[in-house]
Amino acid sequence: MKYLDEFRDRDAVRTLVTAIHAATTRPWTIMEICGGQTHAIVRHGLDALLPPAITLVHGPGCPVCVTPIELIDKAIAIAAYPDVILVSFGDMLRVPGSEKDLLTVKAEGHDVRIVYSPLDAVTLARQNPHKHVVFFAVGFETTAPANAMAVVQAHREQLDNFSILSAHVLVPPAIDAILSSPSNRVQAFLAAGHVCTVMGYEEYLPLSRRYATPIVVTGFEPVDILQGIRAAIRQLESGQTEVENQYARAVRREGNIPARKVIEEVFEVTDRMWRGIGTIPKSGYRLRDVYRHYNAETRFDVAAITAREPSICIAGKVLQGISKPHECAAFGHECTPEHPLGAPMVSSEGACSAYFRYGRFTTTTAEV
Ligand code: SF4
Repeated sequence: MKYLDEFRDRDAVRTLVTAIHAATTRPWTIMEICGGQTHAIVRHGLDALLPPAITLVHGPGCPVCVTPIELIDKAIAIAAYPDVILVSFGDMLRVPGSEKDLLTVKAEGHDVRIVYSPLDAVTLARQNPHKHVVFFAVGFETTAPANAMAVVQAHREQLDNFSILSAHVLVPPAIDAILSSPSNRVQAFLAAGHVCTVMGYEEYLPLSRRYATPIVVTGFEPVDILQGIRAAIRQLESGQTEVENQYARAVRREGNIPARKVIEEVFEVTDRMWRGIGTIPKSGYRLRDVYRHYNAETRFDVAAITAREPSICIAGKVLQGISKPHECAAFGHECTPEHPLGAPMVSSEGACSAYFRYGRFTTTTAEV
């Protein structure tokens, strides 16, 4: 298959691993931003193939993981309103709020449903004019165009019974927050290819310059990731710092202009709270004034809800690359996929779920 098989090729993997070993002379720490990349690294044991001098740490690019607990509580409160249908993607239903998750709310008899597209939520609103459909819109820039299109479509159809609970977050401010933190140890980033497919990579140029940090836009297959690491090591070893595009088969410098336009039409940038990390300035999207009618937080009385993360969960440290999942005292004991304490153990992109699923209880093991 073109564009897939060649990026899973064992010989290509071996050649890249050899090149990375040959190029590495000093210790380096590289963060992959996206949870999809984390799962690929852990699943294929790519980190175990690298020289011991290279440390890969896992970033905050799992949208379910970074959604703060208070937004889960708000979704739960909205779902409990009469005549509400609350819809979201599957993973969100199992993320624990302060007292319960949305799956429990569903079991209690409230109408909570899984959708595969935000436009399905609009269809649901059209089909249920006597109910109010709330779409719990989580995601990075990748999912923002589809969510924006759902709002535009509801507006076109003048659907009064549709709104979104927005939990949109943005990658560049998160990189900024990590690099400006006194506890930062990341020296290069693998940026998330799918985010850059939408947004391009011009936003990363000033970040790379300001912090003298290589940023390599990288895909999700083993060869993609190893090419991204090789590019990052090449820059680190030579003292270069620039933005490189490894994922050129999908990413253009300017991104997807029509997708960016629909985001720009519907959303504006706002400060956003990240799970375990806190508020990062200008790191999320909220609805523009012209679409404020579709804001579930103001249509339901939930704006005042606040919540605290469970103290045992170190998701904030895991999401900033400060700790690895198996360094959490609860990992594999109190916290498992069946009984998760934090979102990174629930999400299909969460680092804790990757470590549990692929048996990373202490050390790495190569599987390629
Ligand atoms: S293992 Fe569980 S409790 Fe620990 S950081 Fe991960 S999600 Fe939180």
